Amino acid sequence: MKVRVRYAPSPTGYQHIGGVRTALFNYLFAKANNGDFILRIEDTDQTRYFDGALDDIYQTFKWLGIEYDEGPDKNGPFGPYIQSERIALYKEYAEKLVETGHAYYCYCDSGRLERIKKIQEANKLPPGYDRHCRTLSAEEIEEKKQSGIQPVIRFKAPLDGKTSFEDTILGRIEVDNNTLQDFVLLKSDGFPTYHLANIIDDHFMEITHVLRAQEWIPSTPNHVLLYKAFGWDHPQFCHMPMVMGEDGKKLSKRHGATQVIEFRKAYLPEALLNFIALLGWSYNDKDEFFSLQELAKIFDIKRINSSPAIFDYKKLNYFNGSYIRKSSQEKIIGLILPYYIEAGLISKNPTKEELDYLHTIMPLVQERLELLTDAPLYSDFFFGDYPPYKTWEMIVPKNTEKSKIIEVLSMAKEMLEALGEKDDKELEAEIYSITEKLGVKAGAVFMPLRIAITGVNKSPELFPVMHILGKERSLKRIENAINKLKSEL
Ligand code: GLU
Ligand code: ZN
Repeated sequence: MKVRVRYAPSPTGYQHIGGVRTALFNYLFAKANNGDFILRIEDTDQTRYFDGALDDIYQTFKWLGIEYDEGPDKNGPFGPYIQSERIALYKEYAEKLVETGHAYYCYCDSGRLERIKKIQEANKLPPGYDRHCRTLSAEEIEEKKQSGIQPVIRFKAPLDGKTSFEDTILGRIEVDNNTLQDFVLLKSDGFPTYHLANIIDDHFMEITHVLRAQEWIPSTPNHVLLYKAFGWDHPQFCHMPMVMGEDGKKLSKRHGATQVIEFRKAYLPEALLNFIALLGWSYNDKDEFFSLQELAKIFDIKRINSSPAIFDYKKLNYFNGSYIRKSSQEKIIGLILPYYIEAGLISKNPTKEELDYLHTIMPLVQERLELLTDAPLYSDFFFGDYPPYKTWEMIVPKNTEKSKIIEVLSMAKEMLEALGEKDDKELEAEIYSITEKLGVKAGAVFMPLRIAITGVNKSPELFPVMHILGKERSLKRIENAINKLKSEL
């Protein structure tokens, strides 16, 4: 039996990290087992439809480089892959369940449902439909039909006994049937509910495994019962752990970015994918860096955890940084060039000189960058005569006189006249000797120099930066800092 799995998003918003985790695990499970991965759009809840969602789903897959074998824009033998194009099928099968006595028409209007809800609340009774129409007589049904009310179709849930299934990750899950509802299958507008459309499609699309987040567990007994009512086998269910923020609460906006569209500008897709693969899954307890191709070979469904996965933004950034370092200069430049243009550091139509210069500074940028969007912020000092002095106040360390720093910088400037002639190490040692000469700590020499040259307290190593800036520009910057300090005396 060929493994067939699906990712079945509802187009109600932008793709969420949790959704991508589901998509990725389905994809990896399919590929690791020579199976098929299907994209299906579950758009039967017209009230929750969000305009940009469908496009965002396609963009997300494209950006991540995950390919589905069948889907709306791919076709395949089991289409259409958009539920709103399969409405007739759901209606036909809902009516079949009425015929076989597994479902019934319910004519209750919203007023009546509202009233029972109020009564239940007042009497502290469990909420839910009171099954009023389950036992209507033939005459009553005829009467309702005559009145022209558009009914819904409800499932006749068993009133006693238990429903259970074997979850790949969680083991046996069992519920008492008396906790279940006569849930709606077909709405009065002829559209199916999630439950009905989902299982009909899984059945006809020959889905063998359903991998989805644990939040769907309460729906699964309904699905098991539906499969039984149709006389079909149900797929194997695998409910994956939830993705949480660091506070242990369900990942949401409060924690930071959660939608793929928010990650696209600053992250490399391969870094995000690698990180997401580890949300609730591990290969062993030491190896963490994997490409999509590697994951597709080694993914083992048995190594999915049952406990919640924590979304650690710092770890994601660390992953992104290491993928940036592994990438070619060409690729990174291509990705960050727009940000330099946006920041006004490079012209709209970059000249050859500008591009060459970007290549020159790139090794120093790439070595410490974590977010692509931060590149201009971390390298703006390579541009212009003087750097933006972002941490100017740190040029004078605590308990040090301004005049002392002026002396330090003047001495360093003189020594740096030899920049490019003397060996860097030698020159550095010479500058270090200022500590003894002027009786200051190393921090009172190198930090002021760093700020004079780069304007910030954290930068790449100073000598490589000065070589890129050139001797003239470097010395001018030191002089400028000296003058600035003098004016502050
Ligand atoms: N359409 C559902 C969703 O939005 C699919 C859930 C499932 O995989 O059964 O996630
Ligand atoms: Zn009813």
